[in-house]
Amino acid sequence: MDMECLYCGSQDLLYDYVHGCIVCGNCGTVNDYIFVEHFIPINKDDEIFGFKGLPTVREGFKRKLAKNRLRQLAKVSKDVKIYESFAKKRRRDVYVDWDAVQKRLQGKKSRVYRHVAEDSIKRIVDADQIVKIIIEKIIDTDPVLSSRTLRGKTALAIILKHMVLDSDIDIDRIAKEASLSKMHIRRLLTLIKTRMKFIDKKIIELKSVILKPMSITNKVP
Ligand SMILES: [Zn+2]
Repeated sequence: MDMECLYCGSQDLLYDYVHGCIVCGNCGTVNDYIFVEHFIPINKDDEIFGFKGLPTVREGFKRKLAKNRLRQLAKVSKDVKIYESFAKKRRRDVYVDWDAVQKRLQGKKSRVYRHVAEDSIKRIVDADQIVKIIIEKIIDTDPVLSSRTLRGKTALAIILKHMVLDSDIDIDRIAKEASLSKMHIRRLLTLIKTRMKFIDKKIIELKSVILKPMSITNKVP
């Protein structure tokens, strides 16, 4: 037998899932409430759930939404703590790469700290074909030179480029381009001198490769 309205006896009973009740379509009387199971965490770790009665659908939805919001908030505050723990240790002009932090937390290898000048240095490397070739062919194949940071390697490549092109090495300008101190550039110059006997053959090779196609367009001063 179908359910009837407690008040008027009509069988036109409507399940209103939004408000969580069964309403009579004839007289509008609320005949019953629809319930959803609802659990709340009973320990701090949010893992063990205790059964917490049967609120109406509406109330249940509200509680579920609130719980999700709390969970999102908890995640955000946990993320902020992780970020801060990395950011605390950072040096000047260095920022924390959040994508890299997450990779690190998953046990993958990644560089968390990035220098603010890194992006502009990448642009220099991408824009300067000779610098790019020098990094690939000379610096990255040398055990000592390749261990430098990207900024250091870029500065080294710019210095080597001047050597290849036989142009003056402007320490001020290179320091500015690579966002390094002049002292640092001077140290890199010394470093190159100590590696010269290992890399000079490659420099000569590059010279012949680079200068050949360029000599066509080179204007004689
Ligand atoms: Zn009714």
